[in-house]
Amino acid sequence: MPYDAIVIGGGLAGCSASLQLAERGHAVLLLEKSAYPSHKLCGEFLSPESQSSFQRLGVLDAVRAAGAHPITEARFTAPNGTEAGSSLPGTALGLSRYRLDEMLFEQAQAAGVDGRTRSRVTDVRGSLEDGFVVSAGDQTFEGRLVLGAYGKRGTLDRTLDRDCLHSSSLVAFKAHFAGADVPNTIELHGFEGGYCGCSHVEAGRMNVCWIGTTEALQAAGGSPEAMMERAQAQNPALADRLAGTTRVSDRFEAVSQVSLQRKGCFAGGVCMIGDTAQMIAPLCGDGMAMALSAADLVVDPADAFLRRQASAEAFRKRYIRRWEETFSTRLRVGRWAHRAAFHPRSASLLVQTFRLLPPIARWAIRTTRGM
Ligand SMILES: Cc1cc2nc3c(=O)[nH]c(=O)nc-3n(C[C@H](O)[C@H](O)[C@H](O)COP(=O)(O)OP(=O)(O)OC[C@H]3O[C@@H](n4cnc5c(N)ncnc54)[C@H](O)[C@@H]3O)c2cc1C
Repeated sequence: MPYDAIVIGGGLAGCSASLQLAERGHAVLLLEKSAYPSHKLCGEFLSPESQSSFQRLGVLDAVRAAGAHPITEARFTAPNGTEAGSSLPGTALGLSRYRLDEMLFEQAQAAGVDGRTRSRVTDVRGSLEDGFVVSAGDQTFEGRLVLGAYGKRGTLDRTLDRDCLHSSSLVAFKAHFAGADVPNTIELHGFEGGYCGCSHVEAGRMNVCWIGTTEALQAAGGSPEAMMERAQAQNPALADRLAGTTRVSDRFEAVSQVSLQRKGCFAGGVCMIGDTAQMIAPLCGDGMAMALSAADLVVDPADAFLRRQASAEAFRKRYIRRWEETFSTRLRVGRWAHRAAFHPRSASLLVQTFRLLPPIARWAIRTTRGM
């Protein structure tokens, strides 16, 4: 059966867009390469605005019932001991991707989406004008529209000939720890060549997530544990935070080649949402809210295209305009703060500024979430 829309990737952007298009009466196929539940590399801090998205998608009660931890404060520390705090513009939530992604996928299926797991898309051919053929394993599917929601980076980028495949020297790790108490706070601790975020998720666990350069990883000895030790040796506040904790995750989730560069809203006629268009700097803690928001932005233009009320060109232009208007400023400010956080001197200057001029901290927090 030809689908109206085929969505590649069942993360936040893909599940939300699929669900909303299905609610508007379209036949939607959602293809996810993994199975649920599974752990995913992420700081797992859901910024305040994501709650309204969850409300609209009908999962807010389930998110709360899963034990999402309320977070209302932010704390920033630099290697030289400087630190600053600020209130968040609303209540954020801490919930593992292990729970969240499965919840969203099931909600999409309940809305009528044909959701399939263990279905890795390997090829996409076609155009918005003539329709698409999507290959996943030995199966092929036809659709009028394809949404790319496959995350930060994937082999599909090469298949679609995207000119965004510059190499990146950023690596990231995450694991859950028991025995910590970070009451209602998201903490960001800087070290030479990276930073580390700590905040609670469900069941009293603390998610600890690092991002840094491969040089910092190599200087530490090459393993996540060694990088963790090196970061603690450089930043006493991080050492205090991790003192007495125990890792409860079997292993660290890891990704390499994390890129913050602009990738573009379309490639080969495929419309990109979430990280597949561009990822915001992790220290903003807004990537998941942005992925949900990108899904909201694409639904109206896609719906009009599928109903033949708008041409392919009108669809393209409308989505790109909405995307630029909504995300450009926060992406720019986020990149700037991310660069500053990687160097002890600029990190301490930034934290000092936040401490002495709290309105600047509040401005940065609000601007990086489009408020
Ligand atoms: C170190 C780090 C820390 C972060 N911390 C935070 C944070 O605290 N808060 C926050 O809001 N954001 C954070 N982010 C960003 C956040 O994780 C992303 O912005 C968010 O996950 C984007 O959602 P998405 O739906 O676009 O992509 P994803 O959540 O990555 O989903 C993509 C999905 O596509 C699937 N897929 C991939 N390729 C294929 C294929 N070929 N076929 C089928 N399926 C495929 C994947 O399995 C995956 O399920 C962080 C990012 C990093 C790197």
